[in-house]
Formats: sequence, C-alpha cells, structure tokens
Amino acid sequence: MSAGTRILLESLGVTSGHTGGTLKVHSPNTGELIAEVVETSVTEANARIDAAHQAYLQWRLIPAPKRGELVRLFGEELRAHKDALGKLVSVEAGKITSEGLGEVQEMIDICDFAVGLSRQLYGLTIATERAEHRMMETWHPLGVVGIISAFNFPVAVWAWNACLALVCGDAIVWKPSEKTPLTALATHALFERAIAKYKAAGYAIPEGLSALLIGGKAVGEALVDHDKVALVSATGSTAMGRAVGPKLAARFARALLELGGNNAAIIAPSADLDLSLRGVAFAAMGTAGQRCTTLRRLFVHDSIYDAFVPRLKQAYGSVKVGHPLEDGTLIGPLIDAQAFQNFEKALDEARGVGGKVTGGERVDINGHQSHYVRPALVEMDAHMGPVLRETFAPILYVMRYSDIRGAIDLQNAVGAGLSSSIFTNDVREAELFMSVAGSDCGIANVNIGPSGAEIGGAFGGEKETGGGRESGSDSWRAYMRRATNTINYGTTLPLAQGVKFDV
Ligand code: NAD
Repeated sequence: MSAGTRILLESLGVTSGHTGGTLKVHSPNTGELIAEVVETSVTEANARIDAAHQAYLQWRLIPAPKRGELVRLFGEELRAHKDALGKLVSVEAGKITSEGLGEVQEMIDICDFAVGLSRQLYGLTIATERAEHRMMETWHPLGVVGIISAFNFPVAVWAWNACLALVCGDAIVWKPSEKTPLTALATHALFERAIAKYKAAGYAIPEGLSALLIGGKAVGEALVDHDKVALVSATGSTAMGRAVGPKLAARFARALLELGGNNAAIIAPSADLDLSLRGVAFAAMGTAGQRCTTLRRLFVHDSIYDAFVPRLKQAYGSVKVGHPLEDGTLIGPLIDAQAFQNFEKALDEARGVGGKVTGGERVDINGHQSHYVRPALVEMDAHMGPVLRETFAPILYVMRYSDIRGAIDLQNAVGAGLSSSIFTNDVREAELFMSVAGSDCGIANVNIGPSGAEIGGAFGGEKETGGGRESGSDSWRAYMRRATNTINYGTTLPLAQGVKFDV
C-alpha cells in the first residue's frame, strides 16, 4: 500500500486487517496501485446479513429519537474527519478537492436531517365512516436494508440511505463499488467509532447493526437474493438495475432504484446568458461528466445559438484539466480505461452521424498512466445515435431548437428520466417546463443546471432511472412499513359499507 494512503486510512481508523487481500485499488489520478483489500466471501456476506437481521429485531424496539442519537454522533465523527475523508474521496474516486469535501458535507447534512426526522416519523388520522371508531396509520421499521452504491458518489449515497434507515429502525448492509472500497472502509470505521461512543454513553446497541460487504457483483447478488433483506436500495447503471429489479420483484422485496441519467437543459431566448454559461459549464464538465445528473444534452434556441455556443466552446477550451488535488483543477480523471474507451467510442459514433466535436482530446498528465480528457462539446444536427444514451464521461451534445414544445418533447425522448433544466426569464415557459406537459424527469429545475441536489429534496428519477426516491422530503417512508389501524371504542360492531352480518 502507498504510504500516503496508509496514513490517510490510519487517521480514519481503518485497521490493517482489511488490507493485503485480492481486490486491487488503483487511484484514477495516477493509475498507481494504492491498496489491496480483503474481499468478503459470499458465505461471510450471508452470515453478516443474518446477523443484521438479528440486530434489526432489537434495534426496532429502541425509540426513534434514541436511534437518532447514534446518527448525531456519526455526524460529529464526520465533522471531525471531514478533511481526511474528503481527501480519500479525491484519491480513490478522482474528485477535485471541493467536490471530495462537498461529498462529506452532504453526509453531515443528511445526518442532521435524519436526527430531526427521528422525532417526526408521523402517520395520519383518517376520517372513518363508523361511529365510535378511530382509524390511523402507523409506520414501523422494515427490516434489513441493503445498500448497493456506485463509484462516483462513493460515500454520500450510502449516508443518504443509511442515516434514514437507522432512524427508521432498520439494520443496514452496504455493498460499495468494487472501485472504491477504501472510502467505504473509512466511512464504516467512523461509523464504528460513533457506535463505541453511543455505547459509552449508556445506550444499548445490537451487534451487527451495520455491515460492510467488500467485493464485486457476486456479493451484490448475495445481498439481492437474501430473503432477510427487506429493501435493496441500488445506485448504479440502468444495466445493473435491470439485473437487480426483477430478482427483488420475484421474491416480493422492495427495490429503491437510482439508475442512469441522460439529462438535458433548454436555453430559451430570454435566458440570462452569463448565468446559463456558468450553469451549463458546471453541470456538463464538473466531476469530469461522471455524475448521474451530469448535463449531457443541450437544446439552444435558434435566436441565441450563435451568441451562446461560441462562448461555451471557449469555456471548454480553457477549463483546467489535471490532478484533482492540484490548485485550480476543475476537471479530474475518468475513473478507468473502460470509461476512456466508452468516451472515445461515443465521440467516434457522433462523428459518424455528422457531429462536430470540439475538445475530447486525451490530456497527458502523467505519461498516460491514467485517463484524463478535455471535455467534449458535440454540435449535432439531429437528436440521434449516441445522444440517446448515457455515456458516463464529459460529452455534451448541443442542438438547435425553434419551438419550446418541440424542445420539451425531445428532452423527454430518451429512456432515462432523472434531471432536467430550463434557462429562461419567461414565466410561461418556466411553468410549462415544470407542468404536467413539461419535463418527465424526477428533477426539473429553472435557471440552475440539472447537476447536483440538496439533501432536503427527494432525489431520483423516472423511467429507466428506476423510479426510486431517497434523501429528503418524505423519502423515509421507503424504509418503513405502513400499518392501517382501526379501533372500535364503542359497544356495537358496525361493519363498513353498511354490511349486515347478524349471528
Ligand atoms: P455499476 O452499475 O457498474 O455498479 C454499481 C454497483 O452495482 C456496484 O457496487 C456494482 O458492484 C453493483 N452491481 C453491478 N451488477 C450487479 C448485480 N447484478 N447485482 C448486484 N450488484 C451489482 O455503476 P458504476 O459504474 O459504479 O456507476 C455509474 C452509474 O451509476 C451511471 O450509470 C450513473 O448514472 C449511475 N448513478 C446513478 C445515481 C442516481 O442516483 N440515479 C447516482 C450515482 C450513479
């Protein structure tokens, strides 16, 4: 293991027992092998899931505000170790410094949200048609929640799920991306410190409440197939969702799917072009185009195309590509060689159907030991070919439009339905875009790009994005089961709908 990585891991409490295994971890920043991590066998994975189920049976009995105290302590650990964990995200996932730190901040924010939520897991009282009766809804813990996460948000997505599931009374089992096991080990070590402090404060906590499964598809499948896992929240490609979703449906388990996006923005004639330029640049190029919410398709009105697109091309030419921990870098590396091949393939395909490519060259940062590219802007005459699918790399397809309804139809004419934006100062266009006849995505923004989200809102998308919602709003309900209770406090037994059954 590299000395720098060892020091970071030790500062985050990861013990040497996890290293020296078979899973090789390369930093996308340098291409260097930074660690070899011990993988979890399927047998061990099943044992941890069984243990988590036993832990759930105890944890569900603890009052929710007391469960919230554990999440509050975890938030304190994250605050104390934000710099180190943020740096590890940069080293392992290739995010620039502010984005690595931003990911940890998002974890802290969801801790705060979940602590508040632990006192607000409320149900309804519902009007009943029967005299001297009361009808209500109660929310109960669900069971073991499996969390499968992707490489590009190696820790925040786990926290979105884990913090809510814990206050809801569930046990959690995490299968992080095989590309980012170190950040998962570090996060789990911080969580274990929070558990130790919780115990020291006199609270009871069952063993095995939170487990980590290190490895690839095989341990992910073990989690999906285990009959004691009540809900699997799976974040990743649509291909992964297509494999996981039917298996969960077959055993009637719940699925919360957060899959790929092919996000669009519309730049309307009245748009503030300076603001739009900044919004588009961040959404399309940020995180080297490796966000599920990355802007991939841009529809620019004919009347402003020639004023806007040359400025955008200039931004594409000047943005700094480089090592993510170096000052001033805005674009870090692609995650691996496969991602680079996918990038090149999509650009070749676009050229083949008449696309005009600006940028897209490979950038030599360290003798091509890793995969840095200049983001590509591709002017297209038609909405076709590679434009219709997600390529997880910094490619922005730009097209002209003349009619807002036609632009909205095109923005909706792809499989994915995650995020979308319109830049306009015309209230009719803005309202149309957000209306029933507007964007069909889970996220529809006005005058901000489609990329990134605050934890307070429900996050997720429609169609091939999977339909799941996590993080804020009432997403917590996915982690609980609902019971309808009817109570008769009278002495007669009236039946619903006037049914008579006298015996
Ligand atoms: P991926 O689909 O390759 O892997 C995601 C996770 O699924 C990994 O942990 C992987 O081991 C696991 N996995 C793969 N096949 C599995 C199977 N058959 N059974 C169980 N587990 C399995 O995705 P990736 O390359 O890590 O991430 C990029 C993708 O994730 C992009 O498509 C991106 O849009 C998407 N993503 C979506 C969201 C969202 O919230 N909608 C967020 C982040 C990333």
